[in-house]
Order: sequence, then C-alpha cells, then structure tokens
Amino acid sequence: MSDNLYELFQSRFPADRKNCFIETADGTKYSYADLEDISGRFARLLQDRGVRKGDRVAVQTEKSPEAVFFYLACLRAGAAYLPLNTAYTKSEIAYFLGDAEPALALCRPESEAEFTEAAENAGVGTVLTLGADGKGSLTEAASGLTPLKGCVSADAGDLAAILYTSGTTGRSKGAMLSHRNLGSNALALHQTWGFRPGDVLLHALPIFHTHGLFVATNCLLLNGSSMLFLNKFDADKVVELLPRATVMMGVPTFYVRLLAHPDFGPDACRNMRLFISGSAPLLEETFQQFKERTGHSILERYGMTETGMNTSNPLEGERRAGTVGFPLPGVEVQVRGEDGGLLPSESVGVLEVRGPNVFSGYWRMPEKTAEEFQPDGFFITGDVGKIDARGYVHIVGRAKDLIISGGYNVYPKEVELVIDALPGVGESAVIGLAHPDFGEAVAAAVTLDGSAEVDEKAVIDACRQQLANYKTPKRVFVVDSLPRNSMGKVQKNLLRDAYKDSFT
Ligand code: ATP
Ligand code: MG
Repeated sequence: MSDNLYELFQSRFPADRKNCFIETADGTKYSYADLEDISGRFARLLQDRGVRKGDRVAVQTEKSPEAVFFYLACLRAGAAYLPLNTAYTKSEIAYFLGDAEPALALCRPESEAEFTEAAENAGVGTVLTLGADGKGSLTEAASGLTPLKGCVSADAGDLAAILYTSGTTGRSKGAMLSHRNLGSNALALHQTWGFRPGDVLLHALPIFHTHGLFVATNCLLLNGSSMLFLNKFDADKVVELLPRATVMMGVPTFYVRLLAHPDFGPDACRNMRLFISGSAPLLEETFQQFKERTGHSILERYGMTETGMNTSNPLEGERRAGTVGFPLPGVEVQVRGEDGGLLPSESVGVLEVRGPNVFSGYWRMPEKTAEEFQPDGFFITGDVGKIDARGYVHIVGRAKDLIISGGYNVYPKEVELVIDALPGVGESAVIGLAHPDFGEAVAAAVTLDGSAEVDEKAVIDACRQQLANYKTPKRVFVVDSLPRNSMGKVQKNLLRDAYKDSFT
C-alpha cells in the first residue's frame, strides 16, 4: 500500500461494496461499487488524456456524485485536484487557470465556450464537461473505458490537491496540500467526532471548499458509510431528510436558517447524534437557541484552507459557545504577541499552528509562503485569538480586521458582542474606516430583527455605556443583510469599501 489517500479510503470501504455511498435529493443511490467503478473509469480517462502524476486538474462544476467521483479519480491518477468556486467569473477563471497551469480542466456544459477560451489561453490541453445531472463529455468519454485498477502510488508528501483560499482578506492563494495533510486530518476528525459504523451524514455544503470536500466527504469516506447529498442547502429538504441522518456539518447560516423553519425541532433531530459548525463564527445566541429548540449543543470547530481543521470542541465534555475547542490530536496551537514572544493562556495574540495537517506552501508564491511560517515550522494563521485557562481556543477575529484607533487596538468581536446583545439588533460587523484624527475610526454595520426599536444613536449610546470611548463606534450603518460569501463568511472588505469615505 502506498500513501495515496485513495488507498487509505479504500482500506475503510465496506466489505459489501453494494452498500450505499451517496443518496441524492431525488433518491438516486450510488454504492461503493459505483464509486470504485466510475472513479476508476474517470482515472483511466485522465491517463488516456495524458494526465501524469503531479499534474494539476482544475474543476469548476456543480455539486453532483460524479463530481465526487472525479475528485477520487484525480487522487487515483496521482494528479493534484484543484476545485474552483462555482461563482467565479470568466476573468477569475482565466487568472486561476493561468496560475495553476492544469493539464486538464473540467467545466459546466453551459459555460464550455467561455471556459475553453480561458483554458486555451492558459495552455490547458484538454477541457471536458460535467453538468449538474452528471452528464457531459466526461461521462460520455469514460463510459466505455476499463476502470483503472487500484491507483498510482504516491508518497505522503506528494501533492494531492491545490485549494484556493476563500479570498476574504485579499486575492485567493493556492494552498498545496499533500496526501499526508489530507489523510492525517481526516483520521483526526474521524476519531475526534466519534464516527461509527452506520453513521449517515447529511451533506448540504459546496464541495469546492475544504469544509464540504475534505472535512465532510473525507470523514465519511473513512467511515465507509453513506451520505444524504443535497446540491445545495434547502431548509425544507434538510428538515425532511434529517430524521434519516445521524451527523450534519454546516456553516453557521445553515443553523440560523433551520431555527427559522417552523417544522424544525426535536422530532426532526430524533436520530441525530452530532451537529458540527465551522468556516465562520457561530453566534452564542444561535448556539443557545439551537440547544433550547433541539437539546443539541452544536459542536464548533476551527480550520482553514491551508491547514484543514486545527481545533474542535469535544465530543464528550463541555462544548463551550464562543470557543472552537481544543487542538486536534497531533496539532499544536500557540499564541504570539506583537513583540514576537509567545503568550501565556488568556492573552490575546496571533494563533500559530503546526502539525501533519499544515500545508507545504502557497502555489508559486515562495515569498508569501516564507512570510507565513516561523523558522520552527509553525504556520502563522492570521487569526487573532487566545487559549483560555481550561485550554479552549477562542477566535477574536482576523489580524487584518484589527482596528487601530488613536493608537489603541480594537478587536471587532468585542464590540460586535455588545451590539449583538442589544434588543432589536440581528447581527453586526465592526470595521475600521480611515479617519483624519484617529487613523482609523470604529464603525458598525447592523441588521435589525424587528423585536425592538433601535437606530444609530441608540447603538452608539448603548456601546458608550459598556465600552471605552475609543472602542465605541463613531458611525452605525443599518443594513438589510451583511455581505457574505458562499461559506457564510462576512466580507468586511466590501463593507470597508462601501463606507470608506465616511470620515474623510
Ligand atoms: P483568505 O485567506 O483568502 O482571506 P479565508 O481565510 O476566509 O480567505 P478560508 O481558508 O476558507 O479562507 O477560511 C479560513 C478562515 O475562516 C480562518 O482563518 C478563520 O478566520 C475562519 N474560520 C474558520 N472556522 C472558524 C470558526 N469556527 N470561527 C471563527 N472563524 C473561523
Ligand atoms: Mg485565510
């Protein structure tokens, strides 16, 4: 057995390969035998089209079982799988293809013409298509082929995937992930979350991102059981299917939307053992409401594209709202202060992580890579947080979102917690805006939930009573909703842009 991640999965597949792997929203089932057969034929096609070990294969398709099989085919062929957000436009695709120089690319049939143009400019040899219905030139060309047996052998450090970061703080960077990175993290999560025979995962996340692909799908593959596979999150459908599931993974907005659904309650959750949240902070209010409604404490964990998952609240033991729990087995987490020294517990600084999960570097960005690693191998996450006296990790925000007003540091989360607790406020995002006197001034974007009257002045007055003057927002903008990306992350850069001239 080599260190190819596919071989690790295969060693965990059920003895009876007729067992279900994926069931889609319309009830279509794919067995583990289908997985081996279809991914084997896709892998053969990749080889026939000249894809060799280490080559990149770029993918921009809708979520479908065939898209999962294609990911596995890339592993089997020893290629580096490179998924792209379905929302990326033509010019963004041109950038990513030019940057990654894939040997082969897969796109949606409906965008074949413009995708092919970008691919040709980037020197991509072959473009195939795959539609949301699983049909396209990929499946056609692979249908008559003999499935590849087994897979191309790989070393632990060989490249398995390049995953671009979400681009929340700037241009997306391609994180190079090895078979060891992905395998070690999936094993750690599988163990930490107590995956057991027969677990059924409800999968409603996109699969171009680490959460839906490497956390959800890889964990399930290691478990050799089945998943209920929705093309996208749909609260009605989730409430309908939940009674058949035992585990669900989601971004915080999934849980907010479930709570807003009239039929969501203990009955829908009767077979559930675990709800997991990540990718963005889960509000304590959501955690509490969910517990009151269902009896379940959502388990929050923390990770990033570059590292996979780093910390998790415990399966057994207290899941603490507002924290992301303990370092996963094999993962070290430390906190560094502004003066460069390591900080003791309870002190806030930049989180650093080290472990077999941590990527080897950014694709074709050696300088950026060097900047983000300490000499002893710790990766500088760019997230600001602390480890409390009981060992729970807290995330306060991102270093890039830190506001320096009149020379004082303001952590947006501290202000957001005060604003979110005000009656009438739905949620908030606190940002720094250029200010002639203070350098930056604190400002907030706020949504209203209609439960009480609240306006700019009321928010500012309430903050003034609870926060130092330099932390109190100088402006509060009422908005219909906060701008979020597909993973539910608040895009503070868009807010900073929209209000940039407020004080100048
Ligand atoms: P970019 O690096 O391109 O700016 P990004 O950091 O949003 O984008 P991802 O790798 O998808 O791209 O997201 C990782 C980030 O998501 C983490 O660094 C952290 O800021 C945030 N995150 C993930 N899980 C949590 C969580 N449970 N609580 C708070 N933040 C989280
Ligand atoms: Mg990031």
